[in-house]
Amino acid sequence: MPIGPVVFIDTAGLDDTGDLGELRIKKTLEVMDKTDIALMVFSPSNLDFTLEQNWWRELAARKIPIIGVVNKIDEEDVDMGDFEKEFDFPFIKVSAKERTNIGKLKEMIHLNAPMDFELSALVGDIINPKSLVVLVTPQDIQAPKNRLILPQVQSIRDILDHNSLALVTKDTELRDMLCSLNKKPDLVITDSQVFHIVSEIVPEDVPLTSFSIIMSRYKGELGTLIKGAGAIDELKPGDRVLIAEACTHHPLENDIGRQKLPSLLESKAGGKLKIEIKAGADFPEDLTPYKLILHCGACMFNRKQMMTRIIRAVEQKVPITNYGMAFAHVQGILERTTRMFEPRNSNVFPRYNKQKRHSERSEES
Ligand code: SF4
Repeated sequence: MPIGPVVFIDTAGLDDTGDLGELRIKKTLEVMDKTDIALMVFSPSNLDFTLEQNWWRELAARKIPIIGVVNKIDEEDVDMGDFEKEFDFPFIKVSAKERTNIGKLKEMIHLNAPMDFELSALVGDIINPKSLVVLVTPQDIQAPKNRLILPQVQSIRDILDHNSLALVTKDTELRDMLCSLNKKPDLVITDSQVFHIVSEIVPEDVPLTSFSIIMSRYKGELGTLIKGAGAIDELKPGDRVLIAEACTHHPLENDIGRQKLPSLLESKAGGKLKIEIKAGADFPEDLTPYKLILHCGACMFNRKQMMTRIIRAVEQKVPITNYGMAFAHVQGILERTTRMFEPRNSNVFPRYNKQKRHSERSEES
């Protein structure tokens, strides 16, 4: 089965010097945070691997699988043993110019790609064909003019792809819509900011979740984020909290990350918190000063980028959760809004720690 569309990023080196060189290295390290698999390209005539060892260390720290690619074999033949004895990842020799072994390289990318680098569905795996799914999308001042936001559009597409029915309404019309149906919906997905309204209207036996929560499962690790929501109860006045958003949108009045969530957390903590907001690629390496990280649904990130942040938080023992889960937790409905997803308490590490060896994958396929 193909792995779908992929993006190749050609990085700057790790050996650049000077101010500009430092910037280029910083950019390269940022690229690594969103890399699912790395192709490390070698020249057949260079057997000094000092630079490549640095690359290997950086990639291994991020748990990124690597394929060694020895290029330019049209110019000189190589003894692959010279490379394989120095590194613990699979190698292939190619000629980009003559296109020698390019097909085999694509097969190796397929075989070595992380098995869960993208989930197959947002909600398609928890509904049956012909299910009825109601989507609640408030159109307030924060909603972009004349369109739905990306998580809502992606959810509709996912429901259609799984041969089910998508009905879209605002929270203000939800009660009327449900009354007009001749059966209960199989699933309701709402904007988490109106959880308090929607959870009162939707019958208890109808599965209810939010766009933010389904995005957090798709892009991240649900079990870790659910657990992180519990840290909201431990917050005390003066604690530092990081609010991280994956894009740099222009905040409007009553912005969720800048106003709604901070006031929710401060009312739980019983006083002022030191809240820092980071947007886009700006995410601290050192997370230990924070008592809690609240992350948006990360619709603009790929899964690897979000997983890199989650793994960094877990390794530094800093609780991390997501906007939708924070609202659900404070309203006492986190269990209700996540119970349809399994497993609830998976651990991030076993899935990302090991690079399946080429040979193991070959045997399986
Ligand atoms: S990246 Fe985050 S803040 Fe930006 S639109 Fe998506 S969910 Fe919202």
